[in-house]
Amino acid sequence: MTTHRLLLLPGDGIGVETIAEVERVIAYFNETAKSARFETETDLVGGAAYDRHGVAITDEAMAKALKAAAVIFGAVGGPKWDGVPYAVRPEAGLLRLRKDLGLFGNLRPAICYPALADASSLKRELVEGLDIMIVRELTGGVYFGEPKEIVTLEDGQKRAIDTQVYTTHEIERIARVAFDLARKRSNKVHSAEKRNVMHTGVLWNEVVTATHKAYAPDVELNHILADNCAMQLVRKPKQFDVIVTDNLFGDVLSDEAAMTTGSLGMLPSASLGAPDPHTGNRKALYEPVHGSAPDIAGKDLANPIATIASFGMALRYSFDMGKEADLLDQAIAAALGAGLRTADIMQPGMRQVGCSEMGSAIVKELGALAG
Ligand code: NAD
Repeated sequence: MTTHRLLLLPGDGIGVETIAEVERVIAYFNETAKSARFETETDLVGGAAYDRHGVAITDEAMAKALKAAAVIFGAVGGPKWDGVPYAVRPEAGLLRLRKDLGLFGNLRPAICYPALADASSLKRELVEGLDIMIVRELTGGVYFGEPKEIVTLEDGQKRAIDTQVYTTHEIERIARVAFDLARKRSNKVHSAEKRNVMHTGVLWNEVVTATHKAYAPDVELNHILADNCAMQLVRKPKQFDVIVTDNLFGDVLSDEAAMTTGSLGMLPSASLGAPDPHTGNRKALYEPVHGSAPDIAGKDLANPIATIASFGMALRYSFDMGKEADLLDQAIAAALGAGLRTADIMQPGMRQVGCSEMGSAIVKELGALAG
């Protein structure tokens, strides 16, 4: 039996509550395991780490993250730490994890569970059964390029500059992530850029085309201008499977795609790094898109589905456990199909439950589906 080592970092606020539900899902998979089980360690991050150690993540916790096969992260932050020094603010823990693990690829799925199709701002027929994946380059582009400054001109006006920079290597490695993912899904990639007005768009297009030819000729590749992509996402989102794009366009397009399908409490994500030269496994961190939600923390009101579905992504993309990931998706769909809703996705005629009851229902459905 294979053992996968997970580091759990619940963090602050509702992160603690939603990771507790993930632990119950992990316990279910361990109890019923046939070929792979999970060994978990837990550590502090964010405000919780600052309160205990004076830093947002300790070197020891970082060392555990580097050794783990995957990190499952809750959320960090809250008003309690608003006044702490910038270098040790809760978010610094997440930024250090991203940097030290070299996480350059951010995966944001937009999945529409049938039971929630009517809650979308789009028509049911446009979103029912939707399952797309936005692959966003995370460590390059205009958020990091230099110069990045605001200067005062001689006439007293100010001029702000951000610089969009991409190299062949940065584009090629994110393209490979997209092609690898597409092979585990519907085998189709759209690459979105603005080659009509940006040099980085021209290079992006050339490198994705060359990577496709050399690395993934079996995958269907389409090029699309990023503005058209934004429009098509609300016009006919089911035409997409995997969309790969740069840091800035990815930031916008992933929020747009995700919100066509529901609440913040439903949205998982993954961040991937380079493949390990020995094992071929990529460094990986899985986390819900939402934050620590201080307004509802500690009240058993949080929706645990985003965090549980993030673990589902770990099953699929770090551990090649696609069958178990499908089972977990079906269990979430079944709990929603049975009419259970946390407060954030409550609809008339449904039954409102808390975080822990939603977690229990999903574990129960896992058992029922597995027979
Ligand atoms: P948030 O995502 O924490 O909450 C926004 C709203 O959505 C709140 O009303 C909250 O109650 C609701 N919400 C979020 N997740 C939910 C869930 N699972 N179930 C039910 N309702 C949910 O964003 P915010 O309020 O802007 O930020 C709160 C804190 O979280 C801040 O300190 C912020 O810096 C931090 N934050 C952390 C991360 C992260 O850890 N990756 C991401 C975003 C924000």
